[in-house]
Amino acid sequence: MYRFKVPDILPTLLPGFLWRVDANEPVLYLTFDDGPHHEMTPYVLDTLHQFNAKATFFCVGENVLKYAEIYQRILAENHSVGNHTFNHLNGWKTSLAKYLENTSRAAETIQSNLFRPPYGRITPAQAHHLREKYTLVMWDILSRDYEHSLSLKKSLNAIKTYSRPGSLLVFHDSEKAASNLKTLLPETLTYFRDKGYRFDALGV
Ligand SMILES: [Zn+2]
Repeated sequence: MYRFKVPDILPTLLPGFLWRVDANEPVLYLTFDDGPHHEMTPYVLDTLHQFNAKATFFCVGENVLKYAEIYQRILAENHSVGNHTFNHLNGWKTSLAKYLENTSRAAETIQSNLFRPPYGRITPAQAHHLREKYTLVMWDILSRDYEHSLSLKKSLNAIKTYSRPGSLLVFHDSEKAASNLKTLLPETLTYFRDKGYRFDALGV
């Protein structure tokens, strides 16, 4: 079982998803799932700003309605947004009709052609339908910032070791990731900025 890095074979086994951007230059794509969140999203935006970094926020529709002003701030600061369903549904436990309906409901407020399935769990039928409208975005590197038992040292080490040009990194602007993210995010940004990387938003 892999912990941080997607094995190279997986994208071959699961084609039709974006796992990494084809890049020859030193660029990373930081992504933040599950927000907006009243405290963590402003923290992430402030931190990104300090590093002149852009990122992509896979938002949950119900949180966008709850924190509409923070959502507007993400857009105003020229980051990208993506659809992460309205209620953070697990595709494996949700019927096709319900999954598509929930995603459409989120699309009423989230204007984007990017979609990331919550938990990375989506059935082939769900993916087949959503692919008509969306680029289905997975990831190259998981920070596992939501794990409370996480060893920050191990996580940082994995991020530093495995990230490469075009990598998509997953973080969360959520309550459960808060304490880990406040170390992982500035450390990641500092390390890769010093290595000459820039940080771009997807689809811009
Ligand atoms: Zn999520």
